[in-house]
Amino acid sequence: MSGDAHRLGVAEIDRALARGEFSSAELTQHLLTRVAAHEQLGAFLAVDADAALAAARDADARRARGDATPLTGVPIAHKDIFVTRGLPTTAGSKMLAGYRSPFDATVVARLAAAGAVTLGKLNCDEFAMGSANENSAYGPVRNPWDPARVPGGSSGGSAAAVAARLLPAATGTDTGGSIRQPASFCGVTGIKPTYGVCSRYGMIAFASSLDQAGPLARSAEDCALLLSAMSGFDERDSTSAQRPPQDYHAQMLAPRDGATPAKPLAGLRIGLPREFFPAALAADVATAVRAALAEFEKLGATLVDVSLPRTELSIPVYYIIAPAEASSNLSRFDGVRYGHRAARYDDLLDMYKKTRAEGFGPEVKRRIMIGTYVLSHGYYDAYYLQAQKLRRMIADDFRQCFAQCDVIAGPVAPTVAWKLGEGSDDPVKAYLADIFTLPASLAGLPGMSVPAGFGAGGMPVGLQLIGNHFAEGTLLHAAHAFQQATDFHTREPQGVAA
Ligand code: GLN
Repeated sequence: MSGDAHRLGVAEIDRALARGEFSSAELTQHLLTRVAAHEQLGAFLAVDADAALAAARDADARRARGDATPLTGVPIAHKDIFVTRGLPTTAGSKMLAGYRSPFDATVVARLAAAGAVTLGKLNCDEFAMGSANENSAYGPVRNPWDPARVPGGSSGGSAAAVAARLLPAATGTDTGGSIRQPASFCGVTGIKPTYGVCSRYGMIAFASSLDQAGPLARSAEDCALLLSAMSGFDERDSTSAQRPPQDYHAQMLAPRDGATPAKPLAGLRIGLPREFFPAALAADVATAVRAALAEFEKLGATLVDVSLPRTELSIPVYYIIAPAEASSNLSRFDGVRYGHRAARYDDLLDMYKKTRAEGFGPEVKRRIMIGTYVLSHGYYDAYYLQAQKLRRMIADDFRQCFAQCDVIAGPVAPTVAWKLGEGSDDPVKAYLADIFTLPASLAGLPGMSVPAGFGAGGMPVGLQLIGNHFAEGTLLHAAHAFQQATDFHTREPQGVAA
C-alpha cells in the first residue's frame, strides 16, 4: 500500500478497496499508526486497535464475498456522544468517566452494519455544550491548521481528525452548529440533516428538540455516502421522520432540469439573507464567502436578496430553549444510575449534590442553572414561553424565504478559528459567535458547511448552505458542483497531513 492512503476520501477508498489496491486491514493499521503519532491533537478519547483490525478483516472478507456497500472497510470514528458497546462513552464529561453502554446508538449500529470500521471515539465539548472544544473534561482539541487555535465545537475531535487525515470521515452532532462550525474552522465538509432524519437513539441528549447527528468528511460526496447509511426511520426515536430510506449519493448526482456541463446549477436560486452579512462580519470571512458565491453564479446559480429578520433573536431564543431542555435531560446524572458517584456523603441529598458538583464542568453547570431558572414558576412565561413563540416565528421567516429561493447561503461563523484560551473567559462572547448556525437549528432545517477559502492566518473559511426541510439532496448537489469546480476541500494542513 502506498504510504499516503490516508489522503484518500471515502469514495476513493471504496474504489481502491474494490480494485484490490490495498486491504481494509492494511489501511486501518496505517491510520491507527497515524492516530498514535498525532496524539498531541487531542482528537481521540479512546482507540481499540484490536477491535478495529478485526472489523477490517471482516470487511475484507465481505468485499471478497461480493456483498460490500461503499462503506465496507472504510475507517471512521464516532463523536464520544454516541453510546458504543465496545468502547467507553464519556460525552466529554467526568460524570461518565469509565462508562460503558450495554448497546450501540442507532447511528453507530447502522454504520457498522454497512461495514464501516470504527477506530475509536472522538473528543467533544462536555455534553456537546460549546463552540471551541475547550469544555471537554479530557483536554482541548487542537486545530490541525494551527495547533495554537481551537478546532471549533462541539464536534471538534471529529473535525480535527478528518482535517489531519487521521480518518476519511467521522460522525458528529449538531444542536446549534456543532457539525457546521467545526467543519468550517477545520476546512472539512459537514452536514446537519433535517431534524428527524438521523435517529437520536443512543445519542446522549443535550437539547432533544434540536439534537441531530450527521457526518463530517472531506467532500459532499463522502458526506452523502455516510448520510445514506446513518439516516432513516427508527421506531426507538419518537421524533424520527417516517420516510423511506434515501440514497443521498444518487440525489447528489441527479442533474437539475436545464443543467448543462458548464452550468450544472442552472436555475438554482440562492438566497442571501442580509442579516447574514452584517458590518461585524470579519472582512476575511466576508471576502471568502463572496468569492465562493461568485463561483456558484458561474455554475449557473442566481443570487437573490432575502431577509431573516429575527437572526439576532435566535441567540437568546436558543440559549433559553437549549439550557431548558439540557437541565431536564441532565437530571438523570444523579449518581444512582450512571457514571460518577461521590465517594463520601452524608445522606441522599448530599450524595446528589456532591456527585453533580464533582461530575459536571463549569459550562454544564451554567446551562443547568439557566435552564432551571427559565423553567421555574414565575419565569416560565417571561422566558421559556416567549422563546417558544419566537422559535415558531423564526421558522416562519425561513418559510417566506424559501418562497423566493431554493437554498440559503452565508457564512458559518463570523470569524475564522480563534486562539485557544481566547474565548474561555467570556461565555456570552462564544454564544454570540453562534449567530449564523442557530437559526436553521431552531427551524429544524438541514445545513451544510462547505470549505470555501482561507482567511486570516491561512485558516479555513466555510460557506453555509441551508435547505428547506428534507432538501439534503439539493444541498449536497450544490456543494458537489462547487467542489467539482474548486479545490478548497482537497487542501491539507501543512505538516500534519504529509
Ligand atoms: N455552540 C452551541 C452551544 O454551545 C452549539 C453546540 C452544539 O451544536 N452541540 O450550545
